[in-house]
Amino acid sequence: MVGGSDADRHRFHNLDSSNSTTWLPDLLWDGNAFRTDVALESDEAGTVARVVSAKEVESTRLRNCAVLPGLVNAHSHAFQRVIRGRTEHRTANQHDSFWTWREMMYSAALRLTPEDVYDASRMAFLEMALSGVTAVGEFHYLHHAPDGSPYNDPNLLAKQVVRAANDVGLRIALLRVAYARAGFETLANPQQLRFIETSPDVYLRNLDQLAGELKAADKMAWTGVAPHSVRAVPLNYLKKVIEAANARGLPVHMHVAEQPAEVSACIEEYGRSPVALLSTEGLLSERFTAVHAIHVTPKAIRQLADARAIVCACPTTERNLGDGIVPADKLFAENVRVSLGSDSHVQIDLFEDARALEYQLRLQRMERVVLANAADGGPAALAARLFECATVNGAQSIGAPGGVLEQGRPADFFTVDLDDPSIAGASVEDLLAAIVFSASRVAIKDVWVGGKQIVAEGRHADQEEIVSRFKDLQRKLWS
Ligand SMILES: [Zn+2]
Repeated sequence: MVGGSDADRHRFHNLDSSNSTTWLPDLLWDGNAFRTDVALESDEAGTVARVVSAKEVESTRLRNCAVLPGLVNAHSHAFQRVIRGRTEHRTANQHDSFWTWREMMYSAALRLTPEDVYDASRMAFLEMALSGVTAVGEFHYLHHAPDGSPYNDPNLLAKQVVRAANDVGLRIALLRVAYARAGFETLANPQQLRFIETSPDVYLRNLDQLAGELKAADKMAWTGVAPHSVRAVPLNYLKKVIEAANARGLPVHMHVAEQPAEVSACIEEYGRSPVALLSTEGLLSERFTAVHAIHVTPKAIRQLADARAIVCACPTTERNLGDGIVPADKLFAENVRVSLGSDSHVQIDLFEDARALEYQLRLQRMERVVLANAADGGPAALAARLFECATVNGAQSIGAPGGVLEQGRPADFFTVDLDDPSIAGASVEDLLAAIVFSASRVAIKDVWVGGKQIVAEGRHADQEEIVSRFKDLQRKLWS
């Protein structure tokens, strides 16, 4: 292991051991309410053995802490961390947009070596760990060398991302992207050469190879299938890879209706909107996650609902890119599960995504408490719904085993410091709302994944080294 002082090491109980452990916090979120006087017991494999009355067991006391299940970040492009702060200026005479931002993102994507991809990813995953994330869905589309030629190992860059997540201590779904073209009747774009695999057979061969290697390595990593968008993947290719994903039982993620131009191009090519196309071709299922799903009609929302598909909203990125507002109110009304992602990583704070889901609708509708289901009642109802997006729904979206702390699930959890100024004084009933709407990231104190502690007192053991390598990378890229 590299980096971290002896003093740091000292604070990481359990880091290198996998003994059975029992933790006793002041409060534990069980999916419905905070419970007092209960302890969380994990077996040697890092799986929750039971949630038990505190009187019955010897426990490691977590003082002034609440324990909550680890957050699941369902949509990430880790390498985009390198352009944070570098795209907040005008580049066009009239209007900057998603499309002008994309030019800047591409220019960064063209420069990264395999080791750079590792360093950038580790930086993004470190920040996720510090903010309570224990599993991530990485929508990975960098496959080739900058000139478009394949590396000897077609999954070289994917494996750098997986290694970065596992070194930080996170679980990862490597959602391997299929990308075939610039768009319908659109000339090839040389800036996309690193992404493109023109044949679905080549794509599936590379996917299977990666899946086999990750399984053999027995790390906290698995694969998923991610056709980039209806723009980038023509229908025949799309059908082939989604059918293969369904046959293999893999999650399927796809950018859907992020921008109006994507919807109109799809209508021009197929006479149907992206969701209508996916629905009528039978490609939606409960394994399918539509990332963004912003520019959708009520009919499209019903089609997503009928198929039990999941939506992944990324409000901190969507507001940064001017994409539009996810109609979470309408999605909730049709019982569509919504997960959350930090996407471009302009911010990495899943609670900010959770509260933005609600806040942007408040601004749009000039109302308060929009996403609460009136029948639920109680001060925690809205917060519990948003927290479910950041945990349970995210885990279902990426095929992760966590999301809730109950017997048989992994011991993936974080603690919140009840004395942190951002939430201090909350009652047991108010606490989840205080956390979801008001907690600052520094309120998150300790993080465990599979019963192993990866963050202690707000710091990761390798933090100094990860940050210093990332600073070197940024200097190399931009100065
Ligand atoms: Zn994305």
